[in-house]
This record gives sequence, C-alpha cells and structure tokens, in this order.
Amino acid sequence: MSVFSLSDFADHEQVVFCSDEKSGLKAIIAVHNSNLGPALGGCRMWPYASEEEAIRDVLRLSRGMTYKSAMANLKLGGGKSVIIGNPRTDKTPELLKAFAQAVERVNGRYIAAEDSGTGVDDMKYMSQFTDHVAGIIDKPTESGVRNGDPSPATAYGTFVGIKAAVKERLGRDSLAGLKVAVQGLGNVGFDLARQLKEAGAQLWVTDIHREPLVRAAKEIDATVVAPDEIFGLDVDVFAPCALGAILNDQTIPLLKAKVVAGAANNQLAEPRHGAALMHKGILYAPDYVINAGGIIDVYYERTCNFDRAELKRHIESIYDNLMEIFARARKEERPTGEVADAIAEERFKR
Ligand code: NAD
Repeated sequence: MSVFSLSDFADHEQVVFCSDEKSGLKAIIAVHNSNLGPALGGCRMWPYASEEEAIRDVLRLSRGMTYKSAMANLKLGGGKSVIIGNPRTDKTPELLKAFAQAVERVNGRYIAAEDSGTGVDDMKYMSQFTDHVAGIIDKPTESGVRNGDPSPATAYGTFVGIKAAVKERLGRDSLAGLKVAVQGLGNVGFDLARQLKEAGAQLWVTDIHREPLVRAAKEIDATVVAPDEIFGLDVDVFAPCALGAILNDQTIPLLKAKVVAGAANNQLAEPRHGAALMHKGILYAPDYVINAGGIIDVYYERTCNFDRAELKRHIESIYDNLMEIFARARKEERPTGEVADAIAEERFKR
C-alpha cells in the first residue's frame, strides 16, 4: 500500500514505524503537526485486522489531535501512536519497554498518554524508559487526590460543552428538567451522566455491558434502554460517549434530539454528516472541541501547573470556544464541524 497518497496522510511531519523482534512490538508513531509545540496524543493498543487499518487509524487520530490542541489554545502539536496487538493478551512489560524506547528515540517530538487499550499503570511503567509520557501524576481534587487518568477532566469539559450547546439551541441556562440520552457509560460517560443528574437533568442511558447500567439505574436514577434504542428517543440532547462514526446515514434519520453533544471521538462517519445534522436543525458540538478537557488536564501536568482553579478555568473555556463556533456557523450558515476546522487551522497554521 502507499502511505503518502492516503487522504489521512494530510501533511504529516513524521511517521515512525517501530518494531522489536524480542517483545513482538509492532507500533506506529505519527506526528501530524508541531507548529504549536510537541505532539501529544494517546497510545492506542488494538488488535487491528491489518497494517493498513492501523496506519489509517493512527494518521486520522494524530491529525485530530492537532485540531483539538489548537482549538483548546494549548502549546501542543498533534500526534498519536498505535501498538498492533490485543491489550488483554499481548501487553507485556517487555513490549511496553520496547515501545517506550521507541518513543524516546523520537526525542520529545511525540509525547504518549493513555488511550483505548493502555492505562495509567502502563504509562507509569513506560516512564522508567522515557521522559516523554503523560497522564501519570496524581492530582489534587476537591475531595482528595485522583490519579493521572484524564477522563474526569474530559467528562467535566463535556458537561460544560453541553451547557453551551443547550444555551445556543434551546436558549436555556439551566439543565434542570432537560432530557438527555447518554450512549456509553465508561470512564467519561458515567461521570458525565452523574454531573448531568446533579444539574437536574433526566437521563436515558445505554451500554453494551450490564454492570454500568445497573449502577446508573441505582445511583443516578437513569432509565436504561437497549443500545439501538438510544438514537430515536424523544430527548433534548444526545450525548455519544462510546464509539466513533455513530452519526451516519442510518442513525441521523432516527434522531429526535435538538442537540448532539458528547465525548466520543470522530462521531461523524463522514464530514457530510455534519451538514445532514444542520439540515435537520440539530446543533452538533464538534467532538474534538467538546472533549478537550482530557488534553487540557494532561497539558497542565506536563507544565507542572497544579493550580486547580486555573485548570478548571481552562477546561471551562470550552464553553466560549463552542459559542464562537456556533455564532460563526449561524452567521455563515455552515456546519459547526467545518467552522471548528477553519478556526483550528487559523490557530495552528498561523
Ligand atoms: P471507555 O472504554 O471507558 O467507555 C466506553 C463505553 O462505551 C464502555 O462502557 C463500552 O461498554 C460502551 N460501548 C461500547 N460500544 C457501545 C455501543 N455500541 N453502545 C453503547 N455503549 C457502548 O471509554 P472512555 O474513556 O469513557 O471514552 C469514551 C469516548 O470518549 C471514546 O470515544 C473516547 O475516544 C472519547 N474520549 C475519551 C477521553 C478520555 O479522557 N477518556 C478523551 C477524549 C475523548
């Protein structure tokens, strides 16, 4: 296969293919753009069906990180890495060490953090072999200390972003009585659902696993629905917090919500689905803008700034970023995703 001509290659500065015979490591590190700073992005471990699938994924994700960090006004570029393998069966200390050494050889142009298939413990282990890992330091919170996992910050940023979208589309400041459907009750989705409940929202939730659903019904009085029922609910907000590509030709016709605002990455199956949402009168909060809380959290860790109030203010700037996008999209009659891309490009191509 050719790499340079792939549409996802899109101006990548550097793509590194890494292997280690002894540990079985096969990994790819992609640095999309470092105009604003070192390329920070998660390390995903996944049993890709083919090398082509892994290449496409890493390129698409690293490009997305450039836009996310630029939009969040961070001095970071965009990058991502993938390890080809099953995290449940193939992840060994030797493999993580070999991957950390590969990251070290990129010499700080790429900084790894946790993603699907890797966690805080993996990053901590890797930090023995390279300085270029993040999401590893315990942080003070109002109720004690939390570990380096950025998910709570992502959930808070998404909560703030939902408020912005509700203000824009429904003209409401309060979430009390608002009907919200949350797809996916993982690290981000459950925390988000809890915050929505505390703000007075009424919740419908789904997941493919039973345990978080039982907890959600018990702890936050949420109504549990089957995975394929979540799209067609008569709610105000649909918050995707599970998979990518869930806004597509099959699901968009089903939606009754006036706002789509959630944490999942790459929600639009194709860019044209942003226009489809707009034509249906649905306000879409661009995924990489609303889910930037985690990268903001990791950035503060890298700069050793543990000022909780400052970090919170920065995460809350997601509200203003979205309002700027919504206003411009309204004025120019363009899909919000297109407007977000234009603003991000103005920032990182400057
Ligand atoms: P997670 O793996 O902890 O949670 C995902 C949840 O979705 C799981 O509970 C899973 O069972 C559920 N799920 C999977 N398929 C489903 C389906 N078809 N229907 C319903 N539920 C389904 O992941 P997370 O860390 O909570 O992240 C959620 C999303 O947000 C992902 O798309 C992730 O890329 C994105 N995101 C996460 C962060 C972060 O800080 N964790 C940051 C930015 C973006």
